[in-house]
Amino acid sequence: MSTLPEIRTRCLVVGGGPAGMMTGYLFARAGVDVVVLEKHADFNRDFRGDTIHPSTLELMYELGLLDEFLKRPHQQLRELCGVINGNSVAIADFSRLPTRCKFIAFMPQWDFLDFLSSRAKQFPTFALHLQHEVIDLLFENDRISGVHVKTPDGEREVRADLIIGADGRHSIIHTKGKFEIEELGVPIDVLWMRISKRKNDPPQSLGFFRHGKLLVLLDRGDYFQVGFVIPKGDFDAIKQRGLPTLHRDIIRLGPFLEDRIAELDDWAKIKLLTVQINRLRHWYRERLLCIGDSAHAMSPAGGVGINLALQDAVATANLLAAKLRAGPVSVTDLKQVQARREWPTRVIQTMQAFIHRRVVTGRESKSGDSLPILLRLFQWFPALRSLPARFIGLGLRAEHIQSPAAN
Ligand SMILES: Cc1cc2nc3c(=O)[nH]c(=O)nc-3n(C[C@H](O)[C@H](O)[C@H](O)COP(=O)(O)OP(=O)(O)OC[C@H]3O[C@@H](n4cnc5c(N)ncnc54)[C@H](O)[C@@H]3O)c2cc1C
Repeated sequence: MSTLPEIRTRCLVVGGGPAGMMTGYLFARAGVDVVVLEKHADFNRDFRGDTIHPSTLELMYELGLLDEFLKRPHQQLRELCGVINGNSVAIADFSRLPTRCKFIAFMPQWDFLDFLSSRAKQFPTFALHLQHEVIDLLFENDRISGVHVKTPDGEREVRADLIIGADGRHSIIHTKGKFEIEELGVPIDVLWMRISKRKNDPPQSLGFFRHGKLLVLLDRGDYFQVGFVIPKGDFDAIKQRGLPTLHRDIIRLGPFLEDRIAELDDWAKIKLLTVQINRLRHWYRERLLCIGDSAHAMSPAGGVGINLALQDAVATANLLAAKLRAGPVSVTDLKQVQARREWPTRVIQTMQAFIHRRVVTGRESKSGDSLPILLRLFQWFPALRSLPARFIGLGLRAEHIQSPAAN
């Protein structure tokens, strides 16, 4: 196999997901030499969530990108509803949030990433290399100096003063960097599939919950991206029970899908996504920092993982961009990123773990059809719906753009 010319840069970001693309954009905007490596050929993968939160839209405003961004096709959800044991229930009301956009924008994530990368490419210090899969770390005199990359045209080395692992929950960077991982344990996995959409289908919601089970439908124009929660490790048993049984289980949660459930006529159309919640004990070591799911894998519960990954990216740029423009950063500088972002991560992961233990387990529970007391309170006192809206829409310790813009 041929060897491609080496790349040298100030900062290397591994992974072109939300955390990586936002970090690349902000560093380039600050005039830092930055290279983003993404293993896929494009952003077009359907396993991604589609939620752009009010806090992210606020960041877009602060960056002067909001008007242009909102021209891309999207849906605006001002109130988030769920169908719980057959009752349609309003859960979060974004209309009172102290932000410019009082809604969640549903936009396929590849459009969001494509938008960020197209804007980042306008900065001269930015480079994105697709089909560049990092397979190992490089060391010189026992110090990390770069990464080893596999591409369709050969292998190459990329050297940098700082490497940021933004390569998601199966991160090669945290594995090869020998970071210690704390697993929180999750009792669910998700089956991921497509079902066509029809004109009179219900509007986008948080999901269809019934007695511990959950069906999520992401509106992608002419089809739904469907997520069906199952107990962890049960996929083989579900396969043995056969497709008709799975069809029946899905229809029990979303009866309007009955007329097209037969589209799922082959197991090849149904992918298993494993869900994890974990976090690194330390997010950094000399010349290496992990952020987003690479530092703390999030479950889909609450649809907050993308927001958290983006907030990590903003905090990283706020704390490191000006310093990196002047020269390499120290371990103490990297430590500050974890110090800033660890608390919101811990709180949100604790809530996700609670939801998986008590609310969405993938197993049929014996609870009755009545609504849980908290949800009844939301219906009696609509103002209370602002609380989940703040949690989902803004997260905890919302970050704002403080990193410099190069002239
Ligand atoms: C089934 C499921 C559904 C979810 N739905 C939602 C949702 O609706 N809303 C929400 O907010 N959160 C959701 N989440 C959580 C969310 O997906 C993550 O928290 C979020 O994507 C983290 O962003 P990230 O940028 O850190 O990592 P990722 O989005 O995972 O991006 C990592 C990137 O790195 C690339 N990469 C990986 N390895 C390498 C390598 N070796 N070399 C180069 N590139 C590499 C990957 O291709 C990818 O592009 C869901 C999670 C799951 C499991």
